[in-house]
Amino acid sequence: MKALDQLTFDNRFARLGDAFSTQVLPDPIADPRLVVASASAMALLDLDPAQAELPLFAELFSGYQSWQDADPRAMVYSGHQFGSYNPRLGDGRGLLLGEVVNDAGEHWDLHLKGAGQTPYSRMGDGRAVLRSSIREFLGSEALHALGIPSSRALCVIGSSTPVWRETQESAAMLLRVAPSHIRYGHFEYFYYTRQPEQQQVLIDHVLTQHYPECREAELPYLAMFRSIVERNAELTAYWQAYGFCHGVMNSDNMSILGITFDFGPFAFLDDFDANFICNHSDDRGRYSYSNQVPIAHWNLSALAQALTPFIEVEALKEVLGLFLPLYQAHYLDLMRRRLGLTTAEDDDLALVERLLQCMQRGGVDYTLLFRRLGEQPVAEALQRVRDDFVDLAGFDAWGAEYQARCEREPGNAEGRRERMHAVNPLYILRNYLAQKAIEAAKKGDYSEVRRLHQVLSKPFEEQPGMQAYAERPPEWGKHLEISCSS
Ligand code: AMP
Ligand code: MG
Repeated sequence: MKALDQLTFDNRFARLGDAFSTQVLPDPIADPRLVVASASAMALLDLDPAQAELPLFAELFSGYQSWQDADPRAMVYSGHQFGSYNPRLGDGRGLLLGEVVNDAGEHWDLHLKGAGQTPYSRMGDGRAVLRSSIREFLGSEALHALGIPSSRALCVIGSSTPVWRETQESAAMLLRVAPSHIRYGHFEYFYYTRQPEQQQVLIDHVLTQHYPECREAELPYLAMFRSIVERNAELTAYWQAYGFCHGVMNSDNMSILGITFDFGPFAFLDDFDANFICNHSDDRGRYSYSNQVPIAHWNLSALAQALTPFIEVEALKEVLGLFLPLYQAHYLDLMRRRLGLTTAEDDDLALVERLLQCMQRGGVDYTLLFRRLGEQPVAEALQRVRDDFVDLAGFDAWGAEYQARCEREPGNAEGRRERMHAVNPLYILRNYLAQKAIEAAKKGDYSEVRRLHQVLSKPFEEQPGMQAYAERPPEWGKHLEISCSS
């Protein structure tokens, strides 16, 4: 285990040069204080979790201190926002502090969000508010604990620095950790600004550092694009299977690594609703829950367009065509597991879809339904969840089919509960839980943020005394409007 001053840096992205990023120092926030830290994210850097309690920790991640070997930079990129191309985005309020190499030889980007203005801030103040920093912290750590690929969050540092959104709030900084912060938008930037040499440097960098296994392929760039498509098909399947809504699936918020990244006013579904829109400025529901699948595909085609100087169009199209079938296979696999099925039958997708239709009509809690289905033997479990449904005839018909399907499974029902509980979380990051923790944090009490983080770090394990975190949300908690300003 290391101390903060023992980290080793190897800033590969910074070395690509000034065409890719601009050197900027963090602009400190006043009276920094630790809100919450993730011991498991610290472990990625081999950091001793006790280091989070040191004054140096809060100073490093609020802009007062730096490492001699860090090389803080704002990255330039562009991207498609809500379907329209924005030619110049970039890190407007975040800085890539540097890349830490851990004892296992892995590189981890340290990215400080809310670090002040940069050449890409446009009209923005370069800040992030406490509320959205806590939400991203809890969201990324909760996704990781669910087994869903995501950027990580190492800590949130609060401050007394005022920032103005709809009302006055306080600034915070979030330290995001990921193997890379390169987005689809990086490729789009160099493509649309016609900088072929830089684009070549970028694609070779990503290939060498992040997709080394593709270098041996006959067509390495195509193999890499194929891997990106594969990873995104799997990622999107996870989101849909676990009810995660990203909120702002702009191509500048899509990681080249296929991990959940830079999410906006995200939400996990409470009641199942295929048309759920978590982003209240998304009037037309472009990024609604069920649209995430075609949008993930659309974003990949935006990336493909930017890769046309390196890969033949026909080959790109062919690989893009793999997305939907791959997505469907992953999704079905995850949903079979959530239903406790270990074998495959032709009608399984229809079985899943019919359940979702019944849930949609009844406003049934998406997380708890699966958990309860696994709690008892099938017949009893069906009886128990039945009351949640409005369309009882529809549910009974589904239940009969599901029971028959379970009876065709090999082996006995012994392992069913264990198997289902291992994939069906009891605790999920519900908006109202985050909201309660945020309200307390705004008053200077961080205990609820920390407790919620702990509960969500073991989402599949029943934790004594934590029943309140596994309840359905109260009515007020289902209709919270999460502000899009962050
Ligand atoms: P987002 O939708 O949060 O991913 O942000 C889109 C773009 O706006 C990115 O280039 C951000 O860096 C930039 N941005 C968002 N909020 C701010 C802010 N408060 N100050 C400066 N830039 C911002
Ligand atoms: Mg963004």
